[in-house]
Amino acid sequence: SDPIPFDVSSVDWQKQDGLLAAVVQDADDLRVLMLGWMDRDALVHTLATRTATFFSRTRQRQWTKGETSGNVLDVVDVRLDCDADTVLVLARPRGPTCHLGRASCFPDAPSDFLVTLDALVATRERERPAGSYTTTLFEGGVRRVAQKVGEEGVETALAAVVQGDEALLGESADLLYHLIVLLRARGLSLPDAVNVLRSRHAS
Ligand code: AMP
Ligand code: ZN
Ligand code: ZN
Ligand code: ZN
Repeated sequence: SDPIPFDVSSVDWQKQDGLLAAVVQDADDLRVLMLGWMDRDALVHTLATRTATFFSRTRQRQWTKGETSGNVLDVVDVRLDCDADTVLVLARPRGPTCHLGRASCFPDAPSDFLVTLDALVATRERERPAGSYTTTLFEGGVRRVAQKVGEEGVETALAAVVQGDEALLGESADLLYHLIVLLRARGLSLPDAVNVLRSRHAS
């Protein structure tokens, strides 16, 4: 695949002794995963291979994340900060990023739960585990899920008018979940719909 487009000469290498701070963020759920350091070689390697590579200050050598654990970070995009001494690396982790086995080096780092749920629903769709409500929805087909979305939409509207906050939030949650399943049953995802919102927002 093509290298990540990024102008290496725009980095201010003097600032931190030839090193660039690299904040790694999950490209899908936006969770902050880790912080590493890159020298020029590590950055060039990251861009060319689309695999996050750092410079280990303790070991004084280049290090590709996942070289022993296999938990590689597939890089989607690299962006430079305002004063050119830090990059934001958007990546898709192939496993836990923290060497302690956690998804993120920052315990309980906040993330977009709707994206996590969308990914879980996609897994249910592929694997169809017995005993899962999501599986029964998929087995029912698009029409069945569409009917559920209609019902939950009406329940949400009714709750907004005649019920309390707890009921309205509960029905809203039902609606979001069933909408995610409906989109997935049609081979689409919630992020696809969010991208439509984003394209309308532009300018
Ligand atoms: P890995 O790169 O996942 O194969 O792990 C190899 C070694 O790199 C580990 O034993 C740690 O010393 C170090 N390491 C791995 N992941 C991280 C991380 N997220 N932050 C800092 N050091 C790490
Ligand atoms: Zn900066
Ligand atoms: Zn860690
Ligand atoms: Zn409901």
